[in-house]
Amino acid sequence: MSNASWWKRATEVLPGGVNSPVRSFKSVPGDPLFFKSARGCRFTDEDDREYIDWCLSWGPLILGHADPDVQAAVENAVTEGATFGAPSRREVLLAEAFLGRLPHFDQVRFVSSGTEAVMSAIRLARGFTGRDLIVKFTGCYHGHADHLLVEAGSGLATFGTPSSGGVPAGFTGSTAVLPLDDVEALARFFAEDGDQVAALIIEPFPANAGLLVQTPEFLQACRDLTEKHGALLIFDEVITGFRVDAGGAAPVLGITPDMGTYGKIIGGGFPVGAYAARRKIMDRISPNGPVYQAGTLSGNPVAMAAGLTTLEKTGRPGFYDDLERKGARLQAGLEKAAADAGVTATVVRQGSLIWTVFQPEAPRSFAAVDGAKMETYGRLHRDLIDRGVYLAPSGWEVGFVSAAHTDDDIDATVAAVADTFQSWS
Ligand SMILES: *Cc1c(COP(=O)(O)O)cnc(C)c1O
Repeated sequence: MSNASWWKRATEVLPGGVNSPVRSFKSVPGDPLFFKSARGCRFTDEDDREYIDWCLSWGPLILGHADPDVQAAVENAVTEGATFGAPSRREVLLAEAFLGRLPHFDQVRFVSSGTEAVMSAIRLARGFTGRDLIVKFTGCYHGHADHLLVEAGSGLATFGTPSSGGVPAGFTGSTAVLPLDDVEALARFFAEDGDQVAALIIEPFPANAGLLVQTPEFLQACRDLTEKHGALLIFDEVITGFRVDAGGAAPVLGITPDMGTYGKIIGGGFPVGAYAARRKIMDRISPNGPVYQAGTLSGNPVAMAAGLTTLEKTGRPGFYDDLERKGARLQAGLEKAAADAGVTATVVRQGSLIWTVFQPEAPRSFAAVDGAKMETYGRLHRDLIDRGVYLAPSGWEVGFVSAAHTDDDIDATVAAVADTFQSWS
């Protein structure tokens, strides 16, 4: 059956045809493709067309699709039993591997998604500090927990209003929403309300509204102000953890958060999330402490096996240097393709996270992104599908370089982009 006929059936039985909204191609022209198999950096759709994939399941697949070692580890685990609902050794092994890469934390709790990790970390931060207020930034995504589906209130209101239907205003009333890249607004907020803040949560390299790389001064202000006011700093590293570096963003930035949330890569393509902190904070979570959090499939051996193998392989010498080199090669190629064709574009990159935005400078805040230019991205997306290259189906999403992309894959992608840009002029 073809992509088109699957899509028709899907829209009958799945709302919007999908199980996660961005997959529905609402932000780019055309209908979604249906994929049936994948290996390395390539996947094949139901029309039997093959693509070089730069979306890679939105980040988890740092080793590429169907990595043979991950697959073998998963098959082993499944053979022994897919879930025990009781302690099993792979939970300990993954926790040890995880903490070995993140020495600023003592303990970790595994859950089943990034959303769950963030939701639990915030509950723990509130339980630990005895305070209610949360600070987040416009342009950062932290999953879909009610109190984080929030946008800045109108006018001078600091406290957020729900950004989704179905979220009571009372649920977002304890979430303050501030702009990224604005030390003054942050300082003003903390001067007034800082002593009521349980936690400030930020993506250390915000990568869910493009790639809005922050200045070191801004991130340092987040650290200093939370510390001064007895609030916790949470780095949401669901994308950046084990991505921008062997540990994630914290070691790259030289800033140590009080808590971290993880997902994507640590599951190696299976549903895993995690949150971590020093022992005195983690001691507050149940069963040791009064803050409740649980999960039927938490720490299940299949997901733990995939995560363990992924961490083991990414921990090999030179792994991140190689990704950095590939990212730089892709960036240079894309920049040249744009310049040669007279297309105004900026390629923003942090290690293997890469984002092309059709404006002359890299934006550092949500407000600085020119939303109208997303139409240009939509054209690029469609034209690249025709040329066998698959990008994330929204200009607000970043691309992911994996160990499975070879120099030839990068050069073929750059050639396809160059050809597309030339065809526009
Ligand atoms: C993806 C993501 C989440 C949510 O993770 P899910 O597994 O989709 O629930 C949270 N925070 C950040 C920074 C993310 O990129």
